[in-house]
Amino acid sequence: MTNAIVVGSGPNGLSAAVALAREGVSVTVLEARDRIGGGTRSGELTVPGVLHDECSGIHPAGAASPFFNSLDLESHGLRWRWPEIDCTHPQDGGTGASLHRSISRTAEELPAPDGARWKRLFGPTVAGFDELLPSIMAPVLQVPKHPLRLARFGAPGLPPATLSGRLFRSPEARGLFAGNVAHAFYPFNRPLTASLGMGIIAMGHSFGWPVAEGGSQAITSALASLLRSLGGTITTGVEVTSLASLPPADIVMLDLAPRVAASVCGDRLPARVRRGYLRYKQGPAAFKVDYAVRGGVPWSYEPSRHAGTVHLGGTLAQIASAEAECARGVLPSSPFVLVGQQYLADPARSAGDVHPLYAYAHVPHGWSGSESEATELVTRQIERFAPGFRDTIVASVSTSPSSFESYNANYIGGDIVGGLNNPLQLVARPRLSLNPYSTGIKGVYLCSQSAPPGAGVHGMCGYNAAQAALSSL
Ligand SMILES: Cc1cc2nc3c(=O)[nH]c(=O)nc-3n(C[C@H](O)[C@H](O)[C@H](O)COP(=O)(O)OP(=O)(O)OC[C@H]3O[C@@H](n4cnc5c(N)ncnc54)[C@H](O)[C@@H]3O)c2cc1C
Repeated sequence: MTNAIVVGSGPNGLSAAVALAREGVSVTVLEARDRIGGGTRSGELTVPGVLHDECSGIHPAGAASPFFNSLDLESHGLRWRWPEIDCTHPQDGGTGASLHRSISRTAEELPAPDGARWKRLFGPTVAGFDELLPSIMAPVLQVPKHPLRLARFGAPGLPPATLSGRLFRSPEARGLFAGNVAHAFYPFNRPLTASLGMGIIAMGHSFGWPVAEGGSQAITSALASLLRSLGGTITTGVEVTSLASLPPADIVMLDLAPRVAASVCGDRLPARVRRGYLRYKQGPAAFKVDYAVRGGVPWSYEPSRHAGTVHLGGTLAQIASAEAECARGVLPSSPFVLVGQQYLADPARSAGDVHPLYAYAHVPHGWSGSESEATELVTRQIERFAPGFRDTIVASVSTSPSSFESYNANYIGGDIVGGLNNPLQLVARPRLSLNPYSTGIKGVYLCSQSAPPGAGVHGMCGYNAAQAALSSL
């Protein structure tokens, strides 16, 4: 019987494990921490009974994932829950824009002529998104199944976001666009910056932006339960430092950042692959604040009171400027902040009228300044759009870039998206190769978010790496 070892139990490690186990491979997962899940864990971080997502919280990519959708995860306990509004982007003065699953409703609520433009830009993609997804979630250098449709989808994402944002006239529509673009953690004035944001918007219009009932940990638990039902085993508390320390295996899957993989593989890694892994660039970092708030956030833009995700930072120009500062290594005084109100779709996460509020700011790679200063920046950014927010705070816990790295060795310098989203690494991730999952060592594969299609809880890096391994057997 073919056997495999998966190093790391993030969503990609577990997905690789499931994809192998369902083909009859005997799989063992080894996880360094005492809890499985990597970026997909939840816990009571602030006050007892209030459940927070420790990393990922909002799951358009999970709901869209062709691999997750091929598994019966529901019978292993996973239930998506959608908020009333998927995402909002407030502006100063109480205005704003909302992203709904319905593209028509989104467009209707945008000021003219931006609604029609929004529909023109995203409508054709959303109409054929199901067919496009397998190509979007595969390595860029492979021949796509629908090249024309993919080209039509990709073309508007080629120019810098500062340019494509000018398609819209109102600050509200431009802001809604900018908040999604900011997910790339990359300066808006560089080519291809709009592409990731456009993908997230299209996913939103096709699948919505759900949360996992019971916290993102439920995704981990469902994958683990499925794996065990297929005969797989998981051992926690085992930090793998070298391939030599592993028992013999036909396949080894590394759910690791390229630099960590280079260290684990040691001298066995071919020189050209080692160079590629060590040259691989990390992106800016996240500084996260988890709050317990009494009674919810008093947003001025009323729809934000019903939104699962709220993007903060103001206008496109303001967010572009903050992202540029991050890239230059400067802590922005008004950073881009993503706020998650998962409890609106999943009320059992709250304790009475005390709710978990999730917020992280984009800060420079490896930023190591004062935690109280960064916490205050996040609080001030929320207060800007929700006067009186401070008075609702019952407790808070902050996670700095270095704490993220201690929490998970893959988050180098606090980079939570597994590498800089520059044009080269969008195309050649983690290195230029037709088989980006191969490490060049027979039977050893990279299956983490640093491989295509990149960050997000969708399991597709793990699934694709498992296909590469299975096809080479
Ligand atoms: C704050 C934050 C917010 C996010 N928000 C979202 C979101 O809302 N939606 C979304 O889709 N995505 C989000 N993400 C990104 C998402 O969490 C990641 O893309 C995803 O977790 C990557 O999965 P992975 O399996 O590649 O790696 P990881 O989740 O990083 O898992 C890797 C695992 O490997 C283990 N490991 C590392 N080194 C070793 C070793 N030497 N030996 C053994 N085990 C090891 C780690 O402990 C970890 O468990 C967020 C991430 C963070 C941190």
